Amino acid sequence: MAIFLNEEATFKRVESDCIFCKIIQGKIPSFKVYEDDKTLAFLDIGPVNKGHALVIPKEHYELYMDVPENLLLVWMASVRKVAKAVMKATNSDGLNISLSMGKAAGQTVNHAHFHVIPRFEGDGFRHWPQGKYGEGEALRYVDKIKADLE
Ligand code: 5GP
Ligand code: ZN
Repeated sequence: MAIFLNEEATFKRVESDCIFCKIIQGKIPSFKVYEDDKTLAFLDIGPVNKGHALVIPKEHYELYMDVPENLLLVWMASVRKVAKAVMKATNSDGLNISLSMGKAAGQTVNHAHFHVIPRFEGDGFRHWPQGKYGEGEALRYVDKIKADLE
């Protein structure tokens, strides 16, 4: 259950049994790489490649979709800053910036977070398998998706 802490006259959403909320509050340790008043970035405890960082809003939202747009903009700006720094620090050839939303998508920590993963030529990690659309199927998807965007 999300509770709201009144800290310096601002209400903050915190989930008492969320690992990332505990990291934000300093209740469990982390290797922080970036912080501002709304976002925090720290090293993933189990890096895909070393330098793999997680960037989170300092308020508890389970899903990316739950995050209000004004916070989303600040969060994305932090992701960009951290991405640039991780790439430079690790001298990586590229990066994956990813977010899993929901258990089916692989989200294991229920506090929305972007992964910033440095990638190297030949590091051996494979990408998603690719399928293909049947006759008329792509248009049906376009229609359904667009209906929700109008
Ligand atoms: P997800 O699977 O939800 O996309 O990613 C969760 C990530 O959080 C995983 O990559 C996992 O290694 C990382 N993680 C889980 N617990 C902790 C922790 O206590 N500290 C840190 N730094 N990372 C954690
Ligand atoms: Zn949380």
